[in-house]
Amino acid sequence: ENYSMYDNYHELVAWDHAHLWHPFTQMQGFRQEELLIIRSGQGVYLYDIHGNRYLDGVSSLWTNVHGHRHPELDTAIKEQLGRIAHTTMLGLANVPAIQVARRLVEITPPGLDKVFFSDNGSTAVEAALKIAYQYWQLRGERQRRLFIRLKEAYHGDTLGAVSVGGIRLFHWIFKDLLLLPTAEAPNPYCYRCPEQQNCQGQCLQALEALVDARRHETVAIILEPVMQGAGGMIPQPPGYLKKVRQIADHYKVLLIADEVATGFGRTGKMFACEHEGVSPDLLCLAKGLTGGYLPLAATLATEDIYQAFLGEFADFKAFFHGHTYTGNPLAAAAALASLRLFEEQRVIDHLQDKIAYLTTRLAEWSQHPHIGDIRQRGFMVGIELVLDKNTKEPYPAKERRGHQVTLAARKLGAILRPLADVVVLMPPLSISLDELKSLLDITIQ
Ligand code: PLP
Repeated sequence: ENYSMYDNYHELVAWDHAHLWHPFTQMQGFRQEELLIIRSGQGVYLYDIHGNRYLDGVSSLWTNVHGHRHPELDTAIKEQLGRIAHTTMLGLANVPAIQVARRLVEITPPGLDKVFFSDNGSTAVEAALKIAYQYWQLRGERQRRLFIRLKEAYHGDTLGAVSVGGIRLFHWIFKDLLLLPTAEAPNPYCYRCPEQQNCQGQCLQALEALVDARRHETVAIILEPVMQGAGGMIPQPPGYLKKVRQIADHYKVLLIADEVATGFGRTGKMFACEHEGVSPDLLCLAKGLTGGYLPLAATLATEDIYQAFLGEFADFKAFFHGHTYTGNPLAAAAALASLRLFEEQRVIDHLQDKIAYLTTRLAEWSQHPHIGDIRQRGFMVGIELVLDKNTKEPYPAKERRGHQVTLAARKLGAILRPLADVVVLMPPLSISLDELKSLLDITIQ
C-alpha cells in the first residue's frame, strides 16, 4: 500500500492544526499537545501513524463491538459495495435495510414493531421526540408539549436532543435556542445524593410528582435506561426503570428509552431495558448498531404509535422527517453482519465471564485514595476521581485530572476518553481476558 502521500507526520499535524476543528475539544490547548494520528486498527487495537499500538479502551467512543477489521464485517461491507453504496429510502427500499429492520424487531423488547432509520444517535433521538409529539397531536391531545428529562441526561448535540439533555455545561450556552418545553427531574446519582444514607427513592418520588402535576401536558419521559452515559456513567438502582415504566403507564405518558450508548450488549444484556423486563414506547439505537463501523441509527416504535400516523394522503398525517442517508445500504449491511455475529458467536453469553473479571478487579481499587466511586453496569465503567475521598471534594477543574490520566494511559498503550474526572472504561465486547487485564493494569497505573 502506498501511504507516502499521507505519511509525513509533521505535515499532517500542520494541516490538522490549520484546518481541523475537533469535536468537544478546546482547540487552543489541544494544538499544544502531541497529536495522535490513527492509521489502522486490528481487533481491540488501534495503530498510530508511527506503528505504535494502543488498546481501544473506549471502543472508539462506545461504538466498536466485535473489534476493528473483523473479517465478516469487512466482507459484508465489501459485498454490499459490489451491489450499491447508497440509494434513498424516500419512496424506495433496499435489501439490507429491510432485513435489519426485521431483525431489530425480533431482538428488541416486545411491542416495538416499527423501525425508523436515521444516521446517528442525535437524529435517532430527534426522530423519537418528533414522533412522540406528533403522536399526541394526531390523537387530538394538542396541549401535550412537555418532555420530562433527567438531570445529567445526555441525548446528543442537535437542538432537540440538547433540549432534553440535563448536562448544564452543554445546555446553558444554548439555552435561548432550546425551544422544546422541558421539565427536569432529579437523577439517581447515589454517590453524591444527600439522601444516600436515607434513601427512600426520593428521586423517583420527585419524578412521579412532576409527571402527576403535569400529566395532561406531558408528551413523554425520556431517559437512558439503567446507566446514564455522558453525564458521568451514573447507574440507576435496580427497580428504577421498572418504576419509571409504571409511572409512564399510570399517568398515560410515553416512555422514550435512549439506548444509543447502552444498546448492543454494553450493560451485559443485548439491551439495557431487558434488565428490568421493560418495553419503552420508543427506543433509540445507534453507535453499536453497525458493530461500530458505519453511521446508522434506528428509532423503534410501538404499533399503537405507528397506527396513529396512518390516514389518507391529504390528511397529512405522515411523519414528515427523513435524512438523505437514512437506511444507507452499506451501513445496513454492516449492521446485519454485526447482529449475525452476536447470534452465531453468542457474544452476550461469552461476555459474562469478562464482566465478572472486571467486577473483581475494580473491587480491588476501592481503597485507592483518589478513587471516590466505581460504577459498573456490565461493560460500562465509570471511575470518579476525587481530591479528597472522605469529603468527596472534586479536583479543581483546571487540573483536568481525568485528562491527565488519559494522557498517561496513552503513553502506556491505551486510549481512554474521560468524562471530566470520571475515567471511562468501555472496551469492545470482543476483548479477551488478557487484553482486559492489560487495559486495567494500564488504567490503575
Ligand atoms: N444518546 C446517548 C445516550 C449517547 O450516549 C449519545 C452519544 O454519546 C447520543 C445520544 C448521541 O449520539 P451521536 O453522537 O451519534 O449523535
